[in-house]
Amino acid sequence: MRNKFIVLLIFCTGLGLGLGIAASETYQVFVNGHPSNIQVERDKETLLVPITLPAAGDDDQYTVTLHRDDQAHKVEVKIDNPNKVKLRGAADCYYCSGNGMCANDYPPGCGRNYSNQTDGGCNGTGRCYHCSGTGKL
Ligand SMILES: [Zn+2]
Ligand SMILES: [Zn+2]
Repeated sequence: MRNKFIVLLIFCTGLGLGLGIAASETYQVFVNGHPSNIQVERDKETLLVPITLPAAGDDDQYTVTLHRDDQAHKVEVKIDNPNKVKLRGAADCYYCSGNGMCANDYPPGCGRNYSNQTDGGCNGTGRCYHCSGTGKL
């Protein structure tokens, strides 16, 4: 258990990001193309989407893009780290043992943590955030 607390401390930035207008039903959130169990909150016409960003270095920079689709009742979130070195496909991801599932989840890949709450590491997608679920780095 001790290990888990250390891992969670890395994810210290919770952002409530507001979006445009209208509609009342439940919205499905997609993070980087993967369906997430993130629950949006409403503030009048605005949806609040709780996204977790990892602060792994001194000056991390992220571009977060939100696309709200009131017809499909979904919010697509793209999180991009322009400074992250892209190492694609060379080796198995050692964070997830190459299976692409978020190792913080219980059970792995479900998008929820031991407390049955949305896991901030993968933003509820169940995908390993180190390799974006590809299993390769
Ligand atoms: Zn997770
Ligand atoms: Zn991985």
